[in-house]
Amino acid sequence: MRLRNKPRAAGEIAANPQYITTTPAEFKGHWQSKFASAQPISIEVGSGKGRFIVEMAKAHPERNFIGIELQPSVVIMILEKQLVAQLPNLYLIQADGGELTDFFAANEVAQIYLNFSDPWPKNRHAKRRLTHQLFLTMYQTILQPNGALQFKTDNRGLFEFSVISFNQFGMQFDELSLDLHHSEVTENIETEYEQRFSQLGHPIYLLVAHFTH
Ligand code: SAM
Repeated sequence: MRLRNKPRAAGEIAANPQYITTTPAEFKGHWQSKFASAQPISIEVGSGKGRFIVEMAKAHPERNFIGIELQPSVVIMILEKQLVAQLPNLYLIQADGGELTDFFAANEVAQIYLNFSDPWPKNRHAKRRLTHQLFLTMYQTILQPNGALQFKTDNRGLFEFSVISFNQFGMQFDELSLDLHHSEVTENIETEYEQRFSQLGHPIYLLVAHFTH
């Protein structure tokens, strides 16, 4: 991923508070104020260059979307898409998605998307995986009852870890695919990583599950 100049990224972020914040805790419990209409909120943790969250916001004007990305030099690629598209139902957060319960009130979120999250293959880094139970506890708090968690990856090891992690947490599975692009799932907006890995012939794995609360 080509990384841009960090000071320039900070300037672009600061100049566009109508589309992005670096201080999301300020809006905890009040995210609807960021959107033209009060509608169910979906978030993506680790949005990268943002193809998924931007196309989801275009495809679903009846929902509000928040993309969360840690790297300033990456999140501005989403910001630049939004400056062109000016979608009334898309907002961005540049911050660590490991602090979600500081950013969102209980039950404030309807869906959570995790796409091609960093696999952290070493066992000693397992707690950093976004599907580790430490993260599931946070997702459970901010998700509405029956709110869904959707996860896509091409990484077999992370997928297997995630199936076990969701199951041990008592989550209920709604969908599971070992080859999403050759499955019956009809709506699938591809991420940048998904496009790259599927072109290389990698199968794409999908998990959709919800907490039983
Ligand atoms: N989701 C995109 C896709 O599928 O094309 C990007 C995938 S990339 C492998 C993972 C992204 O997650 C990177 O842009 C990284 O900076 C971001 N990321 C990793 N940990 C994060 C965290 N704790 N909070 C927010 N973003 C994170």
